[in-house]
Amino acid sequence: MSEINVQIKEGSPVSVPSSATVAEALKKLDRDLAKRALAARVRGKEVDLERTLDSIPLEPGEPAGLLEWCNHGARGIAPILPQTREGLDVLRHSTAHLLAAAVLDLFPATKLGIGPALLDDPRYGFFYDVIAPRALTEADLPVIEKKMRDIAKRNMPYRRDEISKAEALRVFHERDEPLKCELIDEKAGETVSVYYIDGSPFLDFCMGPHVPNTNRLKAFKLLSLAGAYWKGDAERPQMQRIYGTAFFSQEELEAWLKQREEAEKRDHRRLGRELDLFSIQEDYGQGLVFWHPKGGIIRQQMEDYLREELVRRNYSFVYTPHIAKRELWQTSGHEQNYGDSMFAPTKLEETEFRLKPMNCPFHIGIYKSHQRSYRDLPQRYAEMGTVYRAELSGTLHGLMRVRGFTVDDAHLFCTPEQIPREIDDCVDFASAVLKTFGFDKIKYELSVKGSGENKLFLGSDEQWENAEKMLAAGLDARGIPYERIEGEAAFYGPKIDFKIEDAIGRLWQLGTVQWDFNLPERFELEYIAEDNKPHRPVMVHRALFGSIERFFGVLIEHFAGAFPMWLAPVQVAVLPITDRINEYAEKIAQELRATGLRVEVNVRSDKIGAKIRDAQLQKIPFMLVLGDRELEEARVAVRERTKGDIGAMALNEFKEMATRLVKTRALNNN
Ligand SMILES: [Zn+2]
Ligand SMILES: [Zn+2]
Repeated sequence: MSEINVQIKEGSPVSVPSSATVAEALKKLDRDLAKRALAARVRGKEVDLERTLDSIPLEPGEPAGLLEWCNHGARGIAPILPQTREGLDVLRHSTAHLLAAAVLDLFPATKLGIGPALLDDPRYGFFYDVIAPRALTEADLPVIEKKMRDIAKRNMPYRRDEISKAEALRVFHERDEPLKCELIDEKAGETVSVYYIDGSPFLDFCMGPHVPNTNRLKAFKLLSLAGAYWKGDAERPQMQRIYGTAFFSQEELEAWLKQREEAEKRDHRRLGRELDLFSIQEDYGQGLVFWHPKGGIIRQQMEDYLREELVRRNYSFVYTPHIAKRELWQTSGHEQNYGDSMFAPTKLEETEFRLKPMNCPFHIGIYKSHQRSYRDLPQRYAEMGTVYRAELSGTLHGLMRVRGFTVDDAHLFCTPEQIPREIDDCVDFASAVLKTFGFDKIKYELSVKGSGENKLFLGSDEQWENAEKMLAAGLDARGIPYERIEGEAAFYGPKIDFKIEDAIGRLWQLGTVQWDFNLPERFELEYIAEDNKPHRPVMVHRALFGSIERFFGVLIEHFAGAFPMWLAPVQVAVLPITDRINEYAEKIAQELRATGLRVEVNVRSDKIGAKIRDAQLQKIPFMLVLGDRELEEARVAVRERTKGDIGAMALNEFKEMATRLVKTRALNNN
């Protein structure tokens, strides 16, 4: 029997029979790791622990008898462990299988769609799309969940089989699973891997990997039910999507459920309505946002602040159209790579136009309008650029996922030598902006090409290496810790993503700094260098808020609607105790407005208690309560929304405090 040398990252190689399973090899390498592993990465491929080493295909040119560690991890064995992103993916995906098995058990003849893990969705951890013999209701969820628990407790192994495509089609046809047949038809190669859970009627066409046994699934919960279309296509069968989530421990699940409850209280859709900030109206179209006057003020503050920073950092402001000729989107590659997310073309005379899903090609148009010399670089174009994406109705969610939104977009065109300075400024810019909005926990991720086997990446190895190095140097220079994420780069270049943690500990992906090898090639961008010859500039895409709509949604939930002074739509509520004081109240309001403060006077004939309650519900930072005494003494009695009564003071004193809070963009009213 042939032997094979296997090695994990920090261990010495050991020899095992090549027919050994991954689990057996791991056990020989490190018993503890083997116990904790959910699956493994072998030669860069994610596989089940039960796979035998000799069944894992070799890369072209790879020596067969070797599974030793090399730097990019493409050859050795790497266990996929709990508490990692990859591990969570395996856990949640396996739980989705368990869900399908339970549904099929309870509702035989259910047709199954797809069931992926969700890692970046703050609301859910996985789903499975089904067409049950009768429509499922929320009341079915606890029953299905109980069945899942029953199966989990029976310690059932996940089994993998490899069969021919024809055999797979026959099997799924026999089981009357037309959707699975369609998937196999489209996606399968010569052979197909199918998975089943012992003792369950469920069979899935799936690449895996999964946990070895259902007993690894201990903390899961079904969350909700929604409508979905097969392949998101409204012309195709309507399905039901069962959402759930899973964690490694019951404590984690419970903490998450608690956070979810807190999140519901802060839901930006509800607060948006109660505070009259924005609306989305069915009559005008789903996913299209109306900014009401109070939301509009906040947006204006956000944009004004950003513009100030852009001026300081020597950006130029540009404005570009919302549509362009269809050919442009073919040149840019958007139609080929991104066409599904674009609105369909519209024809005028003989020319077809498409709405823009991104601003990049327009900024390129400005760059290309002149011949550029190295002396003109960098060119830094910034635009609050409104874009449109053809998101399906089922995926829309308040401000978080919409069809029309504005990006605080910028594109930098520079020489390779200028890049370190530009990257450094982008990183500094991002952290300055996020901190100003009260996000001081920022997680930086550097997404790189990695071994690059699962995606088509453009650009040479040398370009990638160089670009990745420079992005990393930009973060290192500022002593910023970051996570390096292999294989998650955009196909056109590596990127830095910023994720912020909000007031209740949720992570949000916001802005990004992306290197691009693709568009400068496609549009043949040039500048004349010192050698008098044309060279290709480097292009960087960067956005800090990302979508302004989405950022606003995150802000609403982060502050639970109680915006800091500088953002608050109404900063001061003037509340006269009796009608006699109304005139004095108006005079005070006028004086405050003259200094630029946003002030409302409540002259309704309500009791003062009701007026205070109302201002409190509107989360107005300061209330000035005015009665006869205040009028006589020419003072104001000040209430702060969280502290309550903070005493009487001269109007000037209040004015100074209030304007200081605004000017310094203070996050709390101290
Ligand atoms: Zn699967
Ligand atoms: Zn761009």
